[in-house]
Amino acid sequence: MILLISGPSGAGKSTVYHELLRRDPRLGFSVSTTTRPARAGEKDGVDYDFVDDAEFDRLVAAGAFLEWARVHDRRYGTRRDQVAALEAAGRIPLLDIDVQGGVQVLDQVGVEVVSVFVWPPSWAALEARLRERGTDSDAVIATRLKNARWEIGYADRYAYWVVNDEVEAAVRRLEAILVAEGCRRERWGAAPVQAPARELE
Ligand code: ADP
Ligand code: 5GP
Repeated sequence: MILLISGPSGAGKSTVYHELLRRDPRLGFSVSTTTRPARAGEKDGVDYDFVDDAEFDRLVAAGAFLEWARVHDRRYGTRRDQVAALEAAGRIPLLDIDVQGGVQVLDQVGVEVVSVFVWPPSWAALEARLRERGTDSDAVIATRLKNARWEIGYADRYAYWVVNDEVEAAVRRLEAILVAEGCRRERWGAAPVQAPARELE
């Protein structure tokens, strides 16, 4: 299983999935690679692998990315080796990626992807959250709000919609999705109980 989460910047994705990661040790965060500069408090190799344009070009040429996209004037990508390492460790990779990357993953990977689009409760709430976060300049906030208009046009590609009206409620919805997905028949290799062999008559 891969948990794919997308939604407009400021919808509250990282707030919600940080709590989900804390509660569910099966999940492992897929650290993306980006050319955007680190925000105050972000750690290289933990929040993102921060690289320059030349290094990003090299990784693209080497085919290192499962997907990558230009988002808000910067490039972001999911490295194949990140996802493979999480899977090898028996974890469920959690991808927080934009809709352009999400569509690339949905087109390449089948039933294993559990796709969730996180909505803000309203447009006003989205803008307020971007401002309250206090990490971005007015110009960056304006770009993110402008981009949110077309990003929500991709929501139809996602299997689940979660409105992040309240953090605890949104986390519970994601937990419920994971429980339901774990019960999907397609994920069972074999039936959990086999009929006993009939005795020879
Ligand atoms: P994203 O990862 O989608 O860009 P963040 O998780 O950084 O968004 O959240 C953006 C801002 O909104 C943060 O300041 C966060 O504390 C706040 N926030 C997140 N979820 C909620 C919520 N349900 N209600 C109110 N504020 C929220
Ligand atoms: P931020 O700069 O706020 O951390 O992220 C901006 C946007 O980039 C978010 O929509 C986030 O989901 C997206 N993003 C983060 N990592 C990746 C990635 O690896 N690939 C793609 N396509 N988008 C990403």
